[in-house]
Amino acid sequence: MPATDTVHIHLSDDRNYEIRIGSGLLNEPASWQGLPKAAAAVIVSNETVAPLYAERLRERLLAVYKRVDLVVLPDGEQHKGWESLNRICDHLLGEALDRKTVLFALGGGVIGDMTGFAAAIYMRGVPFVQVPTTLLAQVDSSVGGKTAINHPLGKNMLGAFYQPERVIADLDTLDTLPDRELRAGLAEVIKYGPIADAAFLCWIEDNLDALLSRDKAVLGYAVRRSCEIKADVVGQDEKEQGLRAILNFGHTIGHAIESGLGYGEWLHGEAVACGMVLAADLSQRMGLMPADFVERLQTLIERAGLPVKPPRLGADRYLQLMRVDKKAEAGAIRFVLIEALGQAGLHSVPDALIVETLAAHGAA
Ligand code: NAD
Ligand code: MG
Repeated sequence: MPATDTVHIHLSDDRNYEIRIGSGLLNEPASWQGLPKAAAAVIVSNETVAPLYAERLRERLLAVYKRVDLVVLPDGEQHKGWESLNRICDHLLGEALDRKTVLFALGGGVIGDMTGFAAAIYMRGVPFVQVPTTLLAQVDSSVGGKTAINHPLGKNMLGAFYQPERVIADLDTLDTLPDRELRAGLAEVIKYGPIADAAFLCWIEDNLDALLSRDKAVLGYAVRRSCEIKADVVGQDEKEQGLRAILNFGHTIGHAIESGLGYGEWLHGEAVACGMVLAADLSQRMGLMPADFVERLQTLIERAGLPVKPPRLGADRYLQLMRVDKKAEAGAIRFVLIEALGQAGLHSVPDALIVETLAAHGAA
């Protein structure tokens, strides 16, 4: 068995949990031991991931729980809404499953966010475990306890902070991930460099080809370092009073692209990648960073096969979409900007500068 890395998340009130990262963890009995005791477990997955991994997980869980159910949802960001959430709740209530039932989110960020939200509200809270199977979910969405569904008027607008019991990130599940999804996950990996760790940014630049060819050792390090950075930030600011917002580097414009084009047109990571290029540009226009940083980040994002040119939605539409952003306050749009390599902060940016950046990138 190859080495397993463990990242510890420490939250206030002595709450803490482990993220385990490694090859073969799905098959490893220890992955599923020591979780809250219950009569039943429910695996929540989707039509794509369930056929690949649900039966294997179910077999392992049957060593621990008398009963293991499977709820299979339709695949896609456009299904991250009330209807899917209801399907989970319908199953739990329809089968009269009690408040100790443990939910297992087997899939990418969409499944993780919805399952976590269902766990948060079912009987005012049941335990859940994240089993992320996309790179994006392993480095980002499964860590930190944000759960949500989308509303037609805004992404992730309905949700709760709710922490999992454990995260099991089996690197082998990434073998079946489509290339486009792998690259989208890399966007969130790249994000951690500029906001928190200049050395990690250099490491990504040096190891990008190995990451793209799915070298397990290299992927394992990328997942671990990403989780460490996120764990550190979330440990200091679980409910996003301040610092945690830096994890949204690239997300203000990214979310605008996603909802402006309609969920599912661009992948989340693709929108974030492009959003980072524009946020880097804004950092320069605000006088925080030199031009060579913008070029450096854009080059890396292009090398990763991610988009750097935003869709032409028009400046007014972008501004309108960004004012719905959860970071916006009293109408002022706030961006996570890079202040120095490895350091970021929230900044209100005048509309005129935003329009300049959008225009410079052909989006206005
Ligand atoms: P996703 O969950 O839609 O998964 C991407 C695609 O890959 C889907 O088609 C899925 O079925 C498929 N897939 C998943 N695992 C696979 C595997 N091992 N092999 C083959 N196919 C596989 O998308 P995602 O990129 O994982 O997550 C994006 C979502 O995460 C967004 O909704 C975003 O809002 C959310 N998110 C949440 C947080 C958070 O803190 N909670 C952070 C970042 C992103
Ligand atoms: Mg994200």
